Amino acid sequence: MFTSGMVCQHATVLTESPLVLYPRSAQFCSECLRTAPCNTHDSMRKREELEKEKHLSKYQRMARRLIGALGEERALEAVSELCFVELGKDDVESRIIGALHLNVFGLEQGSVLLQACSLLNHSCEPNCFVELIPDQEPMIRLVASQEIPAMTELTVAYVDLQLPFQERSAYLEWAFGFKCQCPRCRRES
Ligand SMILES: [Zn+2]
Ligand SMILES: [Zn+2]
Repeated sequence: MFTSGMVCQHATVLTESPLVLYPRSAQFCSECLRTAPCNTHDSMRKREELEKEKHLSKYQRMARRLIGALGEERALEAVSELCFVELGKDDVESRIIGALHLNVFGLEQGSVLLQACSLLNHSCEPNCFVELIPDQEPMIRLVASQEIPAMTELTVAYVDLQLPFQERSAYLEWAFGFKCQCPRCRRES
């Protein structure tokens, strides 16, 4: 994804609502990721539900939520659009879990699956980041972390940027299957 015109630092590049989300902990509402209890959702009931899902992995829980919300066929269709890799011939839940591994964004409050933002490429010196918009139904915004000139590729980080080069590089190759060639990696390698 590229900018058409110049984008100012801190500007919102786009907003979207997550296809599915999952809270980092019981501290956050499982429906909107706001600090729990939020004013809108019944956090006691939700907490009991979360308790029941405890034995499942995060991606399993997100996959089941997505299937619950859209149905198997549309859930698979939605994640297939986000993936440039073949999702295999496993059962629907496993294929969705595979797609989630590649596309879920980690926020301070939890994990979200996004559509437009999933098209963004990685850089270890990204010019954008994703955050939850406060005080709104679950809405995410892509924010410019610096001034971005016109016709520049928008990038986000797929990895913890505090990590040293070797660890970042190994993680990106293991999790996403590419060798990062960003300017920072070229400097640090
Ligand atoms: Zn809520
Ligand atoms: Zn890099």
